[in-house]
Amino acid sequence: MTLVAAQIFIALHPAVAAICAGAVGACIGSFLNVCIHRLPKEESVVTPASRCACGQLIPWWLNIPLFGWLALRGKARCCGASISVRYPIVELLTAVLFAVAILTLPPLKAAIAAVFLPLLIVLAGCDLDDMMVPDAPNLALVGLGLLFSILVPSLQGETGAAIEVINRLHAAGDSLIGIAVGTALVWWIRTIGTILMGQEAMGEADIILCAGVGAFCGWQGAVFCLFGGAVIGVLLKFPMVIAVFTKKETDSHVPFVPSLAIAGAIWFFRGPELVQAWHLWVTG
Ligand SMILES: [Zn+2]
Repeated sequence: MTLVAAQIFIALHPAVAAICAGAVGACIGSFLNVCIHRLPKEESVVTPASRCACGQLIPWWLNIPLFGWLALRGKARCCGASISVRYPIVELLTAVLFAVAILTLPPLKAAIAAVFLPLLIVLAGCDLDDMMVPDAPNLALVGLGLLFSILVPSLQGETGAAIEVINRLHAAGDSLIGIAVGTALVWWIRTIGTILMGQEAMGEADIILCAGVGAFCGWQGAVFCLFGGAVIGVLLKFPMVIAVFTKKETDSHVPFVPSLAIAGAIWFFRGPELVQAWHLWVTG
């Protein structure tokens, strides 16, 4: 199916396209759960097959995304241990994001979203679950962002030149600048923050993630990832800070990667429109 044919099909049958994309997303979400569970432990994400915590193999029909968890009502069939609600949430989130991507983005960008968004979900999930962000998906984000920019220059909005190679070179430049800005920005904030607060303000994972968003979205994306992520982080952190104070818990680690990932995803979907809206709002 050519690109134009795909575009026509999506326009004619949006519900079918959304359901198909959602089903693919749910299956990928199921694999992302495996990654979130195993990557921080440095285990293979391919073998062995999924097992319950008690050691029993999980039959294939209970591994069906969303339905498996719903059929079991969150309790393992073998031993009755409760299965984290994270599993259906990740599957549902991936499914919804894939459906939204195919309905709102041009086909090529939607295809790239199918790589970009799962990587963000894995990174956010690992940080939430284990407070440990694996390097492999994070570095993959940087490398793939550059690769996709060269393959699909329109990802960086580079469609102006009549000669295709020029567009590709420009897009590669945009991506590299995005990586550089993301890296430098977070590095400086981390350095200054560490001096002011006397403790590590941000981790290396935050640097690589902002660089990765810059690789996919250009330097504006990297800037939005950091500052938008900080705003989202404060909004998410507020109830947690209250909870920490009221419960007097000593552990107040608030994962920052999920906030950065949310900001990166927002920019990927609606970055240029956000800038436009901001300009309109500022200029009245
Ligand atoms: Zn079990």
